[in-house]
Amino acid sequence: MSLFQDQPLKIYNSISKNKELFTPVTAGNVGMYVCGPTVYSNVHLGNVRTFMSFDMVFRYLQHLDYKVRYVRNITDAGHMEDDADEGEDKIAKKARVEKIEPMEVVQRYTVDFHTILTKMNNLPPSIEPTATGHIIEQIEIIKDILEKGLAYEVNGSVYFDVLKYNEDKIYGVLSGRKIEDAIHNTRVLDGQSEKKNPQDFALWKKASPQHIMRWPSPWGIGFPGWHLECTAMSTKYLGEKFDIHGGGMDLKFPHHECEIAQAEVCNGQNPVNYWMHANMLTMNGQKMSKSTGNNILPGEIFTGENTILSKPFSPTVVRFFMMQAHYRSILDFSSEALEASEKGYNKLMEAIKVLKNISVGASSSFDVAAWKQMCYDAMNDDFNTPILIAQLFEAVKQINLLKEGKATLIQEDLDLFTNTLHAFVFDVLGLVSEATEQEGNKLESVVNMLINMRKQARDNKDWAMSDQIRDELKAMGIQLKDGKGETTFIVE
Ligand SMILES: [Zn+2]
Repeated sequence: MSLFQDQPLKIYNSISKNKELFTPVTAGNVGMYVCGPTVYSNVHLGNVRTFMSFDMVFRYLQHLDYKVRYVRNITDAGHMEDDADEGEDKIAKKARVEKIEPMEVVQRYTVDFHTILTKMNNLPPSIEPTATGHIIEQIEIIKDILEKGLAYEVNGSVYFDVLKYNEDKIYGVLSGRKIEDAIHNTRVLDGQSEKKNPQDFALWKKASPQHIMRWPSPWGIGFPGWHLECTAMSTKYLGEKFDIHGGGMDLKFPHHECEIAQAEVCNGQNPVNYWMHANMLTMNGQKMSKSTGNNILPGEIFTGENTILSKPFSPTVVRFFMMQAHYRSILDFSSEALEASEKGYNKLMEAIKVLKNISVGASSSFDVAAWKQMCYDAMNDDFNTPILIAQLFEAVKQINLLKEGKATLIQEDLDLFTNTLHAFVFDVLGLVSEATEQEGNKLESVVNMLINMRKQARDNKDWAMSDQIRDELKAMGIQLKDGKGETTFIVE
């Protein structure tokens, strides 16, 4: 029997605005699509939160014994600077400004994206397709929409006819926007647009002579519109109807609304059963933004090279911090909040270590099976990680009682307790065990003691001893640095 049969899961569906019982299209299998990054700059911390939320969803579904196909794309063409379809392609612009090939931009920031996500222990998706790898599929979809009369061609560009679509279907079904408000063309002056209506969006854009990313099509040389790639890739790898589509809250409109419209025209249905949206991250109570300087790169958090935080924080502490909020809540990032998370994380890791050395009792003084079910209940309620973490701290309390001899567990319960705790902490939340702060302090004291002993040896001209201390520490990955009158160390 698979675990998902015992643990009914409810997911908040953005389209119905209700928590619904999760029933996959094919029993035991889950198809999940998440809109990936546009790789024209270092990955934004807010986006990291979104991808980490869906990593947690992916992990929990797998933990429940579902066979999951998780598709997360890389947008390497077609994402314009604004929703008006009239700005410049973000990647082409970066390539022009830096005088490098667009694919160099793509490569550089795809590597950054993977490096940061790996550091934060995100699992790789099952398939990571790119927009430029699916130009043919996108052209086929445009042909289909044109044939069905829901798109039109103007001067080598093709636009989706939103008003015509809205005659039979509802445009705005996900975001709740009224058709008259759903305008994609905010920055273009009247009369400059070639669209029939400002609500229409581009399926294919004609490339100007200086545009460096270009492909041939039945409508001339150009490039695909951004919304199209996700329809092409999700249909190709997950089918016309799949289980979960995720993304950041900001993608609901227009991106996901356009995906629904495209798929409705091509396949006659909303392609997704459960639409999930992760909420945003603020910093010190304000929206994160490069232009106001209220911004920090993930890498800068880990190294401490920033002016915002009091000290460096490890990737797993940042992960724990993000997991302490529900994915649909706004989360505020600050030094104080991270310090509190670090303390909590250290407490949890310390307790897990203590649990290893607890001896078996003659009876059990608390109900492990009931506690375990409460952990599942939290996750089954739309992936409520803060409630799960509250249950994990309940476990920490019990571990301390066990340590003090004020609680006992029989072997079977002790095993169940340990296995459940490990499964939720490491498999579901994706935390990793690092040296706790206490251990770090101990290490520092021990190395400083050895540095002093080495200094004494040198004062006594005992070079053999001095070299031995330095070399043996180096072999352990601890490098001594002799400065002016002072020796410091780094752990490699
Ligand atoms: Zn998308």
